[in-house]
Amino acid sequence: MDTKLFHTDDNEIAEAGEILRNGGLVAFPTETVYGLGASAFDSDAAKKIYAAKGRPSDNPLIVHICDKGQIKDIAEEIPESAKKVIDNFMPGPVTIILKKKSVVPNDVTAGLNTVAIRFPLHETAQKLIKAAGVPIAAPSANLSGKPSPTKAKHVVKDMTGRIDAIIDGGECNVGVESTIVDFTGEKPVILRPGGVTYDDLKGIGLDVEIDKNILHSIAADEVPKCPGMKYKHYAPNAEVTVVEGEKDAVQSKIKELLEQTEGKVTGVLTMYGAVYDKAVMLSAGSTNKEYAKNLFAALREFDELGVEVVFAEFSEKDGYGLAVKNRLYKAAAQRVIHV
Ligand code: AMP
Ligand code: MG
Repeated sequence: MDTKLFHTDDNEIAEAGEILRNGGLVAFPTETVYGLGASAFDSDAAKKIYAAKGRPSDNPLIVHICDKGQIKDIAEEIPESAKKVIDNFMPGPVTIILKKKSVVPNDVTAGLNTVAIRFPLHETAQKLIKAAGVPIAAPSANLSGKPSPTKAKHVVKDMTGRIDAIIDGGECNVGVESTIVDFTGEKPVILRPGGVTYDDLKGIGLDVEIDKNILHSIAADEVPKCPGMKYKHYAPNAEVTVVEGEKDAVQSKIKELLEQTEGKVTGVLTMYGAVYDKAVMLSAGSTNKEYAKNLFAALREFDELGVEVVFAEFSEKDGYGLAVKNRLYKAAAQRVIHV
């Protein structure tokens, strides 16, 4: 299949919208990561997403809207607590889980009776959903298991020949996927941390909990609430180890680890500057917010540079810390050294 490369002018967005309306697949930029979209009312189109990504069929898609009024079309009921999040953080990097209406096909929700809904802030994403004339089901636009794409070139690498079109809208600002909040239980629960933080949600008076599985790997026989949790994620080819703690302790531990790693191409993802010998160094930025924006691109770049072993400096500094930690621990397959 030929994959068209579009930019963000209105004619190209209109053509991309038509592709979606006709059951095709289009990758598009959002403020979090690039999404791989299909019409959310088209079962066959949803199936194509799973095929293009190599995504397990029990991992549901997020339905993207461009108008708050669309929520009542796809969700059975909107609890008061969810309304608070809709009023305060939509459009934005947050996804809400509600009971679904039957118009949403089972192939979109992987058989669940709930639906994940997001209203992205990104102008191109909003224009595309409007142009399509239907809500758009979309997971991240990477091959299953690979780091999520935050630049168009990442999507080009993973998806060329597999989908109809890619819209290049530059770099994604947040860099990690949306915060997912489940409103179908007794209390709202954060299933995945992201750009709308725990403190942001507490700040609007939401009585919200954090799912215990956010920082742990899940056994193969466990049934998590957010099916995406159980899969190997964000894994570059390199073996990643997180070294977490205060600056001096982190740096001396990584120097020691580099000494011990012989005969391999090594890399360090840094928060405190380029101080290491014999290692490819990429900066994650000095705040957790910058770390979120840079993480996935850095993991992909280490692979391109042929790095085999990566040590990632990390300390939790701001509200984005939990979102970064969640992705980083998964990329490291839970290899974390606390110093
Ligand atoms: P991605 O955007 O690639 O991270 O994929 C969408 C994420 O949303 C996956 O982690 C899914 O497990 C999660 N998700 C989608 N729909 C639901 C739902 N109805 N309930 C819980 N999690 C969901
Ligand atoms: Mg994903």
